[in-house]
Formats: sequence, C-alpha cells, structure tokens
Amino acid sequence: MKAEFVFVGTELLLGNIVNTNAQYLSEQCAALGISCFYQTVVGDNKSRIQDAFLTAWNRSDCVILSGGLGPTEDDLTKESVAEALNQELVLDSKAMAEIREFFANRGFEMPAINEKQAYVPKDSIVLYNDNGTAPGIIIEKDDKCAILLPGPPVELTAMFEKSVKPYLIEKSPGVIVSKVVKMCGIGESRVDEKIQDLTMGTNPTVAPYAKSGEVHVRVTAKAETEKEASKLVKPVVRELKNRFGDYIYSTDPEVTLEKSVVDLLVANHLTVSTVESCTGGLVAGRLINVPGVSDVLKLCYVTYSNKAKRKLLGIKKGVLQKYTAVSREVCEEMLKGSALINKADVVVSVTGLAGPDGGTEEIPVGTVFIGCSVKGKITVEKYIFKGNRAKIRESAVAYSLILMRRCILEYFSEMAFGSEDKK
Ligand code: ATP
Repeated sequence: MKAEFVFVGTELLLGNIVNTNAQYLSEQCAALGISCFYQTVVGDNKSRIQDAFLTAWNRSDCVILSGGLGPTEDDLTKESVAEALNQELVLDSKAMAEIREFFANRGFEMPAINEKQAYVPKDSIVLYNDNGTAPGIIIEKDDKCAILLPGPPVELTAMFEKSVKPYLIEKSPGVIVSKVVKMCGIGESRVDEKIQDLTMGTNPTVAPYAKSGEVHVRVTAKAETEKEASKLVKPVVRELKNRFGDYIYSTDPEVTLEKSVVDLLVANHLTVSTVESCTGGLVAGRLINVPGVSDVLKLCYVTYSNKAKRKLLGIKKGVLQKYTAVSREVCEEMLKGSALINKADVVVSVTGLAGPDGGTEEIPVGTVFIGCSVKGKITVEKYIFKGNRAKIRESAVAYSLILMRRCILEYFSEMAFGSEDKK
C-alpha cells in the first residue's frame, strides 16, 4: 500500500509549531510496511487543501490528513475533502452526543460552533475521539481511503493507535517484522554509502536514521506469517553485522547506548568514574539512567571552573594557564586528577567550549576534548561539534559514551591479541 500525508495548518507553514505529527505518522507507517513517498504541508485555505489532497489522492492508495477538524471557520479539512470527493456531510448523532458530553464533563454547555464537528461525510467510518471533540473520519472510495485526523498530537496519536492502525493492518494484510540495528562511532553518510544496495530493496526495506552520535538502521519485512517475515529480515541483519562489526552496539530495542556501555562495564567487572566540565554531569546522568549501574559507578565529578579543577582534581595552576581548560593536556590531567585513575578501572573526562561566546581561531566554539582511561591506558580525542550550546553539549555526552565503549573494546581486543602472541 502507498500512503501519503497532508498536514493542514497555517501555523505549520509559518513555523509557529513543529510538525511532530509528520514524524509520528511516518514512523508508524514505516513500521507497518506502508510506503510513503510524499508529504505535504498546506495552510488553512480550501482550494489549496483540495489541491494538495487531490494530488495525493491521485497517486496514492491512502491519504492521511492531520489538522483542521476544529470548530472554527478556518478549520476546513473535512469540508474540503468531502467536496473534492463529492461526499455529502450529515449529522452523526453519536458524535454530537460525545461532543456534548465532552463539554458537560468539564462543566460547560457545548458552544453552538462545535455542532459543526459532528457532521461527517455520509457512509464514512467515524473515529470517535477519546481526548477531544473532533471525530476522525475514514472515507473509502474507488478502492482508496482518506483518513482525517485531528491536529493535536495527543488526540492524533491515541486515535491512530486505537482505530487507524488496526484499520491499516486489515487493509494491508500480513505481518510486519522490524529489527533496528543500532550503531555508534560512525557517521550517517558513511553508513548510507555502505548500505546503498540494501536500501534499494522493497521487502525488506532498509532505512537509516541518525540520532546524536548514533545511526540506527531499521530493517522491515512483510509476509503472511511472522516466521516468513523474520526469514526475510535475518539475512539482512546478518549482512549489516558483517559490514559494520563493532560499530553495532545492539539490535535489542531496549538497549540504549548508555546501557550498552554499562553492560560492558558490568560484564567485565570494571568500575567507572566520570569527571566533567562542559557537560556538567550529563555523562554521569546518562550512565545513571541505567538500572544496575550502582554496581560499577564510583565517583562523579563536575569541575566546571578552573578553581574546581585545581581544588578537586589537583590540576596545577600553571598547566591550566599554559594550555587553557579546553586542551588535550587538561583533559588528560582530569583523568589523572586526584588519582581518579587509581580509584576506578575506567575514567572518562570531558572539557570543551559549548559557547556561544569565548571562541577563538585556535579554539572555536564546539571544541571538546574527551578522554578515557581503561586500567591506566589513556586515550584523548579532540572533536569540533556544530550547533548551539545545547547541541554541542548533547554531542559531547554521546561521544563520551562512544569513546568509553571504543576504549573498553580496544583494551580487551589488545589483551586478546597479546595473549595470542604469547602462545
Ligand atoms: P482543534 O479541534 O484543536 O482545533 P484541529 O484538528 O482543528 O483541532 P488544528 O486546529 O489544525 O487541529 O491544530 C490544533 C493544534 O494541534 C495546533 O495548534 C497545534 O498545537 C497542534 N497541531 C496541529 N497540527 C500539528 C502537527 N502537524 N504537528 C504537531 N502539532 C500539531
């Protein structure tokens, strides 16, 4: 099945609100194995809504519209679509009763303008709204369907989950099996480059998407039974494992990057400490997200000021003056500071310039040094992250976890090679 989305709302065009419904619907349809090749955003204007809708209708099996089902004059989606498909609007008494009840439950009488929301195209499927007043609507015509959903995300997501998803599964029968291969320490374009042949397939479909410091590749197959669908997914996941090796940190939906790091620490009985400057404790925070981290986590320092770096970590004033706080040398000193290195098997340190001010030609905003020591073996890397202060700090946190993972894996792989050599 080919589906297409039309998002209605002038506030979307003006950038007043973020189109989170687009992300939600895209993700949901991809998980259902429904192909979506186009999305349109259109303002609250009848002829333009009809134009966008008919363009979508003519090239897809299913058009999903969001927004513009409210009671006001500029809520025109239902009227526009009904007219484009020659559908008469009729009063749905159940919808009317539910809208009245919605207001009564809040101690109000229904305003007269809300009556408009109880009119639906004749013979359409009405999706009663548990979270608001506008019912959703499914119109079926010429073996196609138009699905009209309310704009507010809480209403749209609940209605999609309860009514639209089962409807789409029935329309497009079969079982969907999806597996996400999660990678870190490799860029999205490099992943893209290496899987171009796989992304050409239609069953399974292979789609990469990037998160801060991570790339996830979703493999989705559709078949009559779960067993058959899994059979289609497995060889592609195996191929991804061959191609990306240690860049893959998990294929388990429950395993986050921080959990993969904590699992690695726990499995190898390694204790850990953090010492952070520009990330202000966020690396420790990500590790502490993981239940069971208390078995391995020792000390967490936030040494934001130079004074704190001197007092708590014992870094010499001269070192800070000579190299500045945002330097490879200070990052390394942070690892060794207060002999942290002797207190935990793994220590991670972060120091950088998150901006927006203070950048120079030598140290531009976004410069971050991240260090990691595993049993005394020290690695310090320099990164230059782009974006605003929040984005730079978020990237620094993600890359701290990635560096920890890499250093631990390297440590054990070197140990294994070392013992091979001795044999
Ligand atoms: P209402 O009955 O609340 O008017 P509606 O179906 O008419 O619902 P709109 O008026 O288009 O929906 O939008 C109502 C609110 O829903 C918007 O102000 C916005 O907060 C949110 N919204 C609408 N469309 C989207 C979207 N695509 N993504 C995220 N939020 C949205």
